[in-house]
Amino acid sequence: MTLLCVPLVSKTVEQMVADAVAAKARGADIVEIRLDHLSDFDAVRDLPLLLRSRPLPALVTYRSFLVTYRPKWEGGEYEGDDKVRFDALCLAMELGAEYVDIELKVAENFVKLISGKKPESFKLIVSSHNYQTTPSSEELSGLVATIQAVGADIVKIATTAVDIVDVTRMFQVIVHCQVPMIGLVMGERGLISRLLCSKFGGYLTFGTLDSGKESAPGQPTISDLLNVYNIRQIGEDTKVYGIIGKPVGHSKGPILHNAAFKSVGFNAVYVPLLVDDLENFLNAYSSPDFAGFSCTIPHKEAALRCCDEVDPIAKAIGAVNTIVKRASDGKLIGYNTDYVGAISAIEDGLRGLRGGKDEIGSPLAGKIFVVIGAGGAGKALAYGAKAKGAKVVIANRTFERAKELANLMGAQALTLAELENFHPENGMILANTTSIGMQPNVNQTPVSKQALRWYSLVFDAVYTPKVTTLLREAQESGATVVSGLEMFIRQAMGQFELFTNLPAPEKLLRDILA
Ligand code: NAP
Repeated sequence: MTLLCVPLVSKTVEQMVADAVAAKARGADIVEIRLDHLSDFDAVRDLPLLLRSRPLPALVTYRSFLVTYRPKWEGGEYEGDDKVRFDALCLAMELGAEYVDIELKVAENFVKLISGKKPESFKLIVSSHNYQTTPSSEELSGLVATIQAVGADIVKIATTAVDIVDVTRMFQVIVHCQVPMIGLVMGERGLISRLLCSKFGGYLTFGTLDSGKESAPGQPTISDLLNVYNIRQIGEDTKVYGIIGKPVGHSKGPILHNAAFKSVGFNAVYVPLLVDDLENFLNAYSSPDFAGFSCTIPHKEAALRCCDEVDPIAKAIGAVNTIVKRASDGKLIGYNTDYVGAISAIEDGLRGLRGGKDEIGSPLAGKIFVVIGAGGAGKALAYGAKAKGAKVVIANRTFERAKELANLMGAQALTLAELENFHPENGMILANTTSIGMQPNVNQTPVSKQALRWYSLVFDAVYTPKVTTLLREAQESGATVVSGLEMFIRQAMGQFELFTNLPAPEKLLRDILA
């Protein structure tokens, strides 16, 4: 089992002691006492307090103490000489610290110093940090061998991800390492090295008490590790799914999909994947362990090109938001669940409006359906509306793109200015598929309130905030409104079903997003 370690980075001993108690309460197995973060550290005065006042190891399942006192050249805060550091670390060992972390650069001297004095249960971690890159697999394996040779009980290597592909090399090395190993790749692009430790057999992973209390770039909080990513449930056989995007940190996908996987007992984890080059990513993560992906901005169109097979609807839309790796042959199959998610939400909105829940055929048939935007979501909405028999009109900031999409769909194209006075009939449907009105620009809206009176239903793909200015003004103008959150829930349900072949737990997903 991978241990969960909370780094303690407070400036005072008292706060560290309090944080250690909090870490225990939140489910940590180990706390890392970063002596270099203490502003007025005196080993003889402070270490007994820090170590003796730690929550009793026997009271937690696997609680122990790990002490690091790292110099500036290894990412620490301490600038003094090694003797002071070595004395402090030796004292920590003598006072019962279960682990001490020493940098490879000085490990030989430290090993000599503690030779013959190591308590039986004590473990020496020898660490190497690279704040620029992640070396090749050969170099990483060489580093493991060097660290082992110096006398480490546990090997620790922390590198930096320039690209998410770098993490695969760390996973390979951990899997093949003969001794316990902590292998982490720092930075946002390295996040999965921290989330998937238990799958690849890493000795421990770090989780902070709160965001802002990181001891290295890219550490998630302990609460996210335990409650969002369910890392206690991750094992060798756990399948990995994730959201590919850039940026991706804001996505609610991990909260939804991990809760949904857990609720049906599906052995999988869903992680954020900050991807620069989709093709490189898919080639590097081609193993069956990485079983499926959601795709968001800016990769939906590239995903269409990278899949081995594409569902005809996704092909017609020109965008893939879901990739499933077929278990039988590893081929990548692309789908688009945005279309069904948005169109079914709008249809239900119209049926509610008419009280015609049981009517046959789509309530969109014959209606004028105005789509604002001509990107991935715009294409999905335009395709869906047309497939349901609506008369589609595309309005876009870049008129050329509106025309291009309109030609493809046999639709009419408008400029955004023309949209203001466009009212061939009453009771039209309007769908915003641009990011106008999204946080933080919550006061923006793609069309004036004046122009909204011609519409019976207004949909906004933007879902942060849930009620956008467009939806509020539409409501005030008497239109029925459908939130982007409804589309988001429904497209996520479609993805869940493609990933698992199981019905999506709709109530759970709605409760999470309520
Ligand atoms: P996209 O492919 O990048 O397309 C963006 C569209 O918005 C383009 O038509 C672009 O016009 C237009 N646009 C962007 N900024 C604009 C501005 N300031 N003024 C006028 N037009 C602007 O993005 P997408 O994937 O379609 O996503 C669009 C929006 O839908 C995003 O807010 C996204 O979060 C949301 N979305 C929601 C869901 C959901 O489940 N609710 C699902 C997918 C997408 P140009 O052609 O002129 O650049």
